[in-house]
Amino acid sequence: MTTNKELLAIRESETPRGLGTQTTVFADKASNAEIWDVEGKRYIDLAAGIAVTNTGHNHPKIIAAVETQLGRYSHTCFQVTPYDVYVELAGRLNKLAPGPTPKKTIFLTTGAEAVENAVKIARKHTGRSAVIAFSGAFHGRTMMCMALTGKVVPYKAGFGPFPAEVFHVPYPIDYHGISTEDSFAALDKLFTSDLEPSRVAAMIVEPVQGEGGFYPAPPGFLEKLREICDTHGIVMIVDEIQTGFGRTGRLFAVEYAGIEPDIVTVAKSLAGGFPLSGVIGKADIMDSVDPGGLGGTYAGSPLGCAAGLAVLDIIEEEQLCDKAVAIGEQIRCWAEQVQADTDCIGDIRVTGAMCAIEIVADNDADHPDAELTKAIAAEATRQGVVLLTCGVRGNVIRFLPPLTIGEKLLAEALDTLGGIIRDLAGDVRKAS
Ligand code: PMP
Repeated sequence: MTTNKELLAIRESETPRGLGTQTTVFADKASNAEIWDVEGKRYIDLAAGIAVTNTGHNHPKIIAAVETQLGRYSHTCFQVTPYDVYVELAGRLNKLAPGPTPKKTIFLTTGAEAVENAVKIARKHTGRSAVIAFSGAFHGRTMMCMALTGKVVPYKAGFGPFPAEVFHVPYPIDYHGISTEDSFAALDKLFTSDLEPSRVAAMIVEPVQGEGGFYPAPPGFLEKLREICDTHGIVMIVDEIQTGFGRTGRLFAVEYAGIEPDIVTVAKSLAGGFPLSGVIGKADIMDSVDPGGLGGTYAGSPLGCAAGLAVLDIIEEEQLCDKAVAIGEQIRCWAEQVQADTDCIGDIRVTGAMCAIEIVADNDADHPDAELTKAIAAEATRQGVVLLTCGVRGNVIRFLPPLTIGEKLLAEALDTLGGIIRDLAGDVRKAS
């Protein structure tokens, strides 16, 4: 048997440090919301490969769809010999995307690539150069995406210079004293001091900020952004790469705001574990680019497209949007109980099954406790729960279980985690 320790030694000598890993155990097999490591130990998966397996690991319908596609071909390159699953998936997404305006979709491979292409399309459409993003945002690790990302360490430090014409304004986070009004005041200031709106091609926003700390856009924020984009002819790009495909209780999180973005970027759970991303946009905007300006050798892999069609069926048949809401309520109840017992959970944020607890010292928002957060996640792995952290201050535990996890398995994971937090943080009620 190969052990985790042996594989870790190889990993350390053969792969670079810059590729950080959350756990030091190596996956052997996975099914629905469980992963087994190479030593046979079982883990409950509350990470879903960073919001990728919303439909669970190895969903039989996805496996069957991909096997069928594999029996036909795995690659022809859409730009050489196009294929049916690509256009079928594009058609379904165009109908499902928010808003009445006719849409078109292009597929790519990674989330970052989708964001890159969204910016390219917006620039070509408007003939303008500037892009506005938000502090705390995460949009990927390529050059333009690093520029758009609003967190320096570890994503940007030492990697510059970045593409020019990218500007940041604060994302509204009530818990940290940044109101929606503060954000718009900063945007106003940007427009008067640095950047005329007529130079802005696009604004890009996450409806729930993901890597930045799982902060949902406050009510009214996206609606006002939409208005500002309309006033100035700016393309509104909504990055749904982490929030998409049922995660927040709606197929797209932006549906809560009731607005129609000009462009939506999608990836991750779109294809349930197969590498596929996409840009869905208003047809006239998407058609701004001349033939040859968009694409990529592997872009829109037939295996990913076949998986994506199965994912959309599963979300509907298994009512995964409703399940996301139920998961969120289960996590909220649990988190409120642990919050009452300890003084380390400063804030609980629940948008469907995109949930987080912010770990602080003494219930104080201004005292982030990244050390405790890291310790909780590490102990969780030791006790058989795969868990992710996030946040600009590194003090947020995020919950991204597959939406197919089931109440019992989630309760088991939460029980384990509750014990860990109470142990590591000290049980305030017991102590007093
Ligand atoms: N945008 C958002 C909102 C993301 O969460 C991520 C990945 N965490 C990306 C873009 C980049 O996706 P990828 O890692 O597939 O390039």
